[in-house]
Amino acid sequence: MLIENIHQLIGQTPLLELQLPVPNHSRIFAKLEMFNPGGSIKDRLGQFLISDAWHKNLINQQTTIIEPTAGNTGIGLALAAQQYQLSTILVVPEKFSAEKQQLMKALGATIINTPSEEGIKGAIAKAKSLAAEIDNSYLPMQFANPANPETYYTTLGPEITDDLKDKQIAAFVAGAGSGGTFAGLAKYLNESDPTIKNIVVEPEGSILNGGPAHAHRTEGIGVEFIPPFFKNVIIDQTLTISDDRAFQQVRYAAKHLGLFIGSSSGAALAASLQMAETLPSHSNIVTVFPDSSERYMSTNIYNN
Ligand code: PMP
Repeated sequence: MLIENIHQLIGQTPLLELQLPVPNHSRIFAKLEMFNPGGSIKDRLGQFLISDAWHKNLINQQTTIIEPTAGNTGIGLALAAQQYQLSTILVVPEKFSAEKQQLMKALGATIINTPSEEGIKGAIAKAKSLAAEIDNSYLPMQFANPANPETYYTTLGPEITDDLKDKQIAAFVAGAGSGGTFAGLAKYLNESDPTIKNIVVEPEGSILNGGPAHAHRTEGIGVEFIPPFFKNVIIDQTLTISDDRAFQQVRYAAKHLGLFIGSSSGAALAASLQMAETLPSHSNIVTVFPDSSERYMSTNIYNN
């Protein structure tokens, strides 16, 4: 395959049927998003946020892109910004993995850290104040920008239904950070088949199930406020997966499937297996593995 630039490799990731014992003879299909060139599902978002803003004349070559991010969106944005030679400032709570921060820097972004205890809300506030100070800056604001769910509605959704052809999907299982992946995919899948159950996955310490927000080790998912994108989406069930269960699946996937997955993928796998117990036998479950374990080695992902 001859390509002209790395950005052409964004999207069209493989959908893997997991070869592991699934309850009730059901099948689990996982979209392997770590195969995007920046290593995560958020390359799709970075690309779409920048090209959308460019085509709407919201940015020009002198614009500074500023964004609060847990890391993967930052990598996706920094990668996309290279195409347009834009500078990027990424505001990252310091708790997020060192590898992701190094990758953002390597791509040319400036990183500003905010205190871990202020969570993503602290990063959002800092990004907004920077945007107010810096002339010709643009804040894509993944947490509120409709381009976020639209990214997944237009790319990931059709890829999944194309790959599965005539197989009926019983449930779709995905974690939520900004909620863009879940909302965009749920909308797309329900338009093609309204009987598909939408299952959202969160770690303990995320608020969807009504508990208080607190720290968790599962990285990339978990919400401190209800994502605005959830307004028009049916959530059939919210599954809360403990860090221990997520990391157990991370280890299982490496050892038995030869698959390096991050902790949000581990949580998605644990939730998919849990769903298989309650769905009718021979159900097809679709899930998303957002990134790889390799960017979490400094967090001791295999010894957690
Ligand atoms: N997993 C990982 C590793 C992520 O970085 C993110 C994005 N924060 C997600 C899952 C959740 O994706 P979304 O923001 O679309 O809900």
